[in-house]
Amino acid sequence: MQESIVDYFMELVKIDSESKQEKQIALKLQTDLEEMGARVEFDDAHSKTGGEIGNLYAYFDGDTCQSPILFCSHLDTVVPGTGVKPQLKEDRITSDGTTVLGADDKSGIAQVISAIKELQQSGEKLPPIELLFTISEEIGLLGSRYADYAKLHAKFGYALDAHYIGDLTIGAPSEKSIKLTVHGKEAHAGMAPEKGISAIRLAAEAILAAPQGRIDEQTTCNIGIISGGVATNIVPNKVEIKAEVRSHDDDKLANTTQKIIDSFKDTVKKHKTENFEPTVDVELGQRYRSFRISEEEEMVKLALRVNKKLGIDIKPSVGGGGSDANNFNEHGIKAVIAGTGMRSVHTTEEFILLEDLKKGKEWVKEIIKEYAKD
Ligand SMILES: [Zn+2]
Repeated sequence: MQESIVDYFMELVKIDSESKQEKQIALKLQTDLEEMGARVEFDDAHSKTGGEIGNLYAYFDGDTCQSPILFCSHLDTVVPGTGVKPQLKEDRITSDGTTVLGADDKSGIAQVISAIKELQQSGEKLPPIELLFTISEEIGLLGSRYADYAKLHAKFGYALDAHYIGDLTIGAPSEKSIKLTVHGKEAHAGMAPEKGISAIRLAAEAILAAPQGRIDEQTTCNIGIISGGVATNIVPNKVEIKAEVRSHDDDKLANTTQKIIDSFKDTVKKHKTENFEPTVDVELGQRYRSFRISEEEEMVKLALRVNKKLGIDIKPSVGGGGSDANNFNEHGIKAVIAGTGMRSVHTTEEFILLEDLKKGKEWVKEIIKEYAKD
């Protein structure tokens, strides 16, 4: 394992690990963590996700009798993420422009491992530490959804997976997916259009009646995909619509979801004829559940003390998207999302400043030291 965090980070991003292909990076981290004295285990989440290997759990016993503190990062990257050639420039690390860099989320992995290693070397008294490196976060938080939570004993943790060092996301919405399939009646568009009921026309009417965009401060929704129809000379008998609803409030989530469904049900009902009844099929999925951690929570106060010590002036915020932290909170582990310095993620322009890579490591070290004081 490389001594400096810059070298270590460069080493990690060179290992291909697009979603579902995390075996190589997981085995590399297992070796590094075991060298540092950790116990490493895997679960079988990949049997449900179709990946190569499960989530990685690492346990450091520590010197105190506290309950463990958890850090989490994800092993996978988005595409294009194979053959990453990191470029060390004056003040930053970039890819060569043909792939992402993978600072999302290998900056978090490098920071937490380097932080623990440096604390071990300095002879610092350490609390018990648990690490969870998840698979397939980028394709729907799959690793944390299927994680074996019996393997974790921590009551709280920090998911290192956001932009600015010291930034804490203490809340995120729930998300529901809605798939609506409208069934109309096929007919020849030139010879007998009056015999058909256009599914596309029904869908258009329903979409206009459905709520859309920002509903209120806590709730948004979007009809994002519409597909259907076969040819211009056929009155279409089927169209598929995909939508999502997000809210920080579960009642509002259910409410808005129902309103979308109702607009479709009401529309098809209105167009019922004597010999044909158009219909709509509804499929609902819950992508993740909302969470909100109070600013009075000790884990938030602890992080804010560390920010102050490092001269970082950022207030905790509430996010608009999902992350592994949603799933941890759903399983009873209080988790917030913390920044690592990753920038322009999910693009080939992705980069991280050297200063941030190091500062993120210091942030993790200070969190561990501050917790060990308790
Ligand atoms: Zn990420």
